[in-house]
Amino acid sequence: MKILVTGAAGFIGSHLAERLCGRGDQVVGFDNFDGFYPRAVKERNLSLLRRSDSFSLVEGDLTAPGDLARAFTAAGGKVDMVVHLAALAGVRPSLAQPQRYADVNVTGTLNVFEACRKRGVHKVVFASSSSVYGADSTVPFKESDPCARPLSPYAATKKAGELLAYSEHHVHGTGITCLRFFTVYGPRQRPDLAIAKFTRLMAMGKQIELFGDGETSRDYTWIDDIVDGVVASIDQISRESTGRYRIYNLGGCKTTTLKGLVDLISSALGKEPRIAWKAEQAGDMKHTHADVALATEQLGYAPKMNISQGIDQYVRWWCAQHAAELKEQGIRIDTLPYRSPELVG
Ligand code: NAD
Repeated sequence: MKILVTGAAGFIGSHLAERLCGRGDQVVGFDNFDGFYPRAVKERNLSLLRRSDSFSLVEGDLTAPGDLARAFTAAGGKVDMVVHLAALAGVRPSLAQPQRYADVNVTGTLNVFEACRKRGVHKVVFASSSSVYGADSTVPFKESDPCARPLSPYAATKKAGELLAYSEHHVHGTGITCLRFFTVYGPRQRPDLAIAKFTRLMAMGKQIELFGDGETSRDYTWIDDIVDGVVASIDQISRESTGRYRIYNLGGCKTTTLKGLVDLISSALGKEPRIAWKAEQAGDMKHTHADVALATEQLGYAPKMNISQGIDQYVRWWCAQHAAELKEQGIRIDTLPYRSPELVG
């Protein structure tokens, strides 16, 4: 297949693109290297892909329809499917910039649907989020929950994306699957997310800030499990001649408290945390927990990684990536080296 992946330079997008190229698909990536975190990090995410003949990247902005048109042209022939991952992600920053989030996540998503329609592309996978479960949901979250009370602008934009996807499907018959990812982690995790942030600060001997009482909990999902779910969705839609609208939760299915997470990172690093306790943050959810029965039944989705092994692998990867920096600062960490897939072979 020829697949256009928006957000391909990001955390999830780069892993997905690698998997797709690895199995023989052609991937055209689209990304504007948004400044939410450094371009250098995203360039590193792409380093393996840049060496593949099956991958090309178009630099452009979702909010500019002309940029999206360039991506379809660069594909040089009909695109079979679009996986739309590009977005401004993150709950807390959305409180300060709701307009930007709406421009990129709502208008940008609409632009993707329009661009697909104009070129006869009738199959789309859209990255939604566990954040759509708000004040009217109780754990474990089910796809049938109303999700009408989002707790942050980010959550509202993801819900808006799902609603626009439904209307696109209804009016034009496009097959669209919305995937609600639950806190994804693993090598290349976005630097703003808790595991990446805590690992860096704790490794460097710095203080970490914990919001609330430490009993908030998250359903953490290992990156390879998420990619398995996305690929299963791609394959499901590609087999169908009639477009359907679907929503699936993709989670790890187990929950970990904030305090438990810090303990796991601390033991993987062999370092005691220095904690500054802060008040709960507006927009944060207290608990997330995915019911993945639907994805299991219809996609064969079965998350495999348990959190303590996952944190251990993440910490090893992080230390391997930052070995020079740690050495420069005279910091010694007793973890076994991580052999990242990029370094193998
Ligand atoms: P990421 O920030 O690493 O990747 C997103 C990519 O989109 C970035 O490379 C960025 O440059 C690009 N982008 C942003 N604005 C753009 C624009 N206007 N035009 C073109 N490209 C643009 O984030 P991620 O963690 O890989 O998340 C991928 C998707 O999954 C997002 O839609 C996010 O909302 C969703 N999601 C992620 C998580 C998670 O835990 N990581 C959880 C739920 C949902």
